[in-house]
Amino acid sequence: MNLKYQLLQAGSLSNGKVRGRYAPSPSGVQHLGNIQTAIFAWLQVRLAGGEFALRMDDIDTPRIKPGSAEQIIDDLEWLGLDWEPLSGVEYRPGADEIYLESEYLDYYEAAFDFLVQKDLLYPCACSRRDIRKRVSEPNAAGHYVYPGTCRGLGRDSFGQGASLLWRFIVPDYEIEFTDMLAGPYVQNVAESWGDIIVRRRGGLFAYQLVSVVDDIQMGITDIVRGADLLDSTPGQIALFEALGAEVPRFWHVPVKTDAQGNKLAKRDGSDSLQNLRQAGKRAEEVIGELAFDLGLLDSARELSLQELLQQLR
Ligand code: GLU
Repeated sequence: MNLKYQLLQAGSLSNGKVRGRYAPSPSGVQHLGNIQTAIFAWLQVRLAGGEFALRMDDIDTPRIKPGSAEQIIDDLEWLGLDWEPLSGVEYRPGADEIYLESEYLDYYEAAFDFLVQKDLLYPCACSRRDIRKRVSEPNAAGHYVYPGTCRGLGRDSFGQGASLLWRFIVPDYEIEFTDMLAGPYVQNVAESWGDIIVRRRGGLFAYQLVSVVDDIQMGITDIVRGADLLDSTPGQIALFEALGAEVPRFWHVPVKTDAQGNKLAKRDGSDSLQNLRQAGKRAEEVIGELAFDLGLLDSARELSLQELLQQLR
């Protein structure tokens, strides 16, 4: 199906009530793949006449790089991307008009307690090494599937002061959904991952839970993100359902690769927007190239985000 048609279709189906977000992790510089996702997320919402939020996924404190959040915001503003507070959503004072994960620990705690009450979580003492000892081989997707060793043991089976993480009991059936970009996708989470970690040793809530709770709190209807998260999506769908929430639509933007076909990484900075900006690249050039690469334009001409939006309307 034609991508432009799909975007317009999504807008008309949702009666203008679309709510989207771009949710970067402030763990390094933004590369062109991240920027492409941000642009797509923005376009999807603006075409649908919805509300667009910027969320900083800053819960993973050990991975946060000082100054990264500010740099991401500066990059997005340089591109001409705008966002607004979502109506009816409580924004906490940490940052104006930006949803900062680290401000909402009580929400994650509440979701965690709810799932404990429903007997869907259990504590686990297994280290990565323990799992590799039990599961000699990764599955076809390259995951060492958690074999459920601690399931059913209960908190009292572990000594006082044991270092525990918490897992979510995933359904053992095929979860199917149709990604708006990647198409139909099927996964049995129990076979692909095993029970997933929702809270780490030391108490930090894990990405899978946090992201789902945020999207529920924010009333997100459309999740746009990189395709590297496609195989985490069925587990998240199971979490949306366990928390009694409606499952949003997903748009997984293909992962951008460099000229050699390698995935762009935040670490190496080579294709970072910062580098390109310093080298004198203009926002209109970046936008045109990324939109062309997505198949939204038939040539990589220079244009602003507003002009791109007009083109697609
Ligand atoms: N923060 C995640 C990332 O930067 C994206 C999370 C999401 O969009 O669900 O990869």
